[in-house]
Amino acid sequence: MKTNFDFLMPSVNFFGPGVVAKVGDRAKMLGMKKPLIVTDSFLETLPDGAVEQAVASLKEAGVDFSIFNGVEPNPKVRNIEAAKTQYLAENCDSIITVGGGSAHDTGKGLGIILTNGDDITVLAGIETLANALPPLIAINTTAGTGSELTRHAVITNEETHLKFVVVSWRNIPLVSFNDPMLMLDVPQGLTAATGMDAFVQAIEPYVSTNRNAITDGQCLQAIKLIEESLREAVANGHNLEARTKMVEAEMLAGMAFNNADLGYVHAMAHQLGGQYDAPHGVCCALLLPIVEKFNIIAAPERFAELAVAMGENIDGLSTRDAAEVAIKAMRQMSIDVGIPRSIKDIGAKPEDFELMAENALKDGNAFSNPRKATKAEIVQLFQEAYDQV
Ligand code: NAD
Repeated sequence: MKTNFDFLMPSVNFFGPGVVAKVGDRAKMLGMKKPLIVTDSFLETLPDGAVEQAVASLKEAGVDFSIFNGVEPNPKVRNIEAAKTQYLAENCDSIITVGGGSAHDTGKGLGIILTNGDDITVLAGIETLANALPPLIAINTTAGTGSELTRHAVITNEETHLKFVVVSWRNIPLVSFNDPMLMLDVPQGLTAATGMDAFVQAIEPYVSTNRNAITDGQCLQAIKLIEESLREAVANGHNLEARTKMVEAEMLAGMAFNNADLGYVHAMAHQLGGQYDAPHGVCCALLLPIVEKFNIIAAPERFAELAVAMGENIDGLSTRDAAEVAIKAMRQMSIDVGIPRSIKDIGAKPEDFELMAENALKDGNAFSNPRKATKAEIVQLFQEAYDQV
């Protein structure tokens, strides 16, 4: 537990049904003359989707724009470079990201290479950015990564198949939008994967070595909201109350890990994502119960508290048994929302585990995990995630 820390918050977040209509006014207030809208081709053409609504609002406010639709999931260095080419050719002066974590991270990456040098790979690490990014607004469409309000830009180096993270307060968007109406049509599988990412982002900071009393509260409330709403949001995507609770939860979890950091689930998930281009939330969900079972001995009482936050009855149980209840509940959530059973299902191969374990231990998220592992132990954790049925 940390008692001496800097605490980061989103500067402004517009929250609630219909708030996306305010983006034009806010862009104008920020002095944006011609933002580059950073998105993908699916969202660009989605009828009455986030891009269409953002464009209508910008037009109403008299703000010019250009649309870059080249974001890929697990965004690559090439996406950022292509966005920069368009930004310069179109004489843009600012950035509006529309989408999930991939769009926001591409927009942050674009901002980084516009003002901090062409090669983003050398900027991996913590507080490596000397210069401010151009003004950045993030319109979020998944619940989710929290990237619309975090200091992280997660990028994949397509040559090495490694995901790396540029962590800096300069990456935090000036304004973010979380409009649950934009999420009503998110398909079941994406709702489940992104929701499990938020769940993991509420659990890892709660047991992180960098946690503090403020992030503890954010984690517990996020877990409670996810327990109340994720299964319902998967079962019935048009349930606005469930969607709203999931956005509240992903924001809380995003704020929590922005300050308390994560752990081996994310360090290892980045290897699966980089190596097999697998959906991030699915990677996290498959590793969660395995890694947290390994972590129990570092903080059994914290896991017992997580069991309570997940609505489990631990009356009469020892702390250790209560902690095991939390692990079972994590796995059950993943099964209930239809996540695949094993990392086998996303293409993982045992012959890659040695290298992935080595790289996981170098990932920035590894350092705040509560229990320190050897490379052989990380290989074993990948193997257990592979053998899960
Ligand atoms: P995503 O942004 O990769 O989007 C996945 C797919 O969902 C895309 O094809 C997109 O078109 C589609 N989509 C998005 N919104 C939709 C909507 N409203 N309706 C229908 N389809 C929609 O998914 P994600 O899980 O939000 O982001 C994952 C990425 O974020 C990973 O690269 C992960 O590493 C990163 N991440 C970043 C942070 C951070 O703080 N920067 C935190 C966690 C994860």
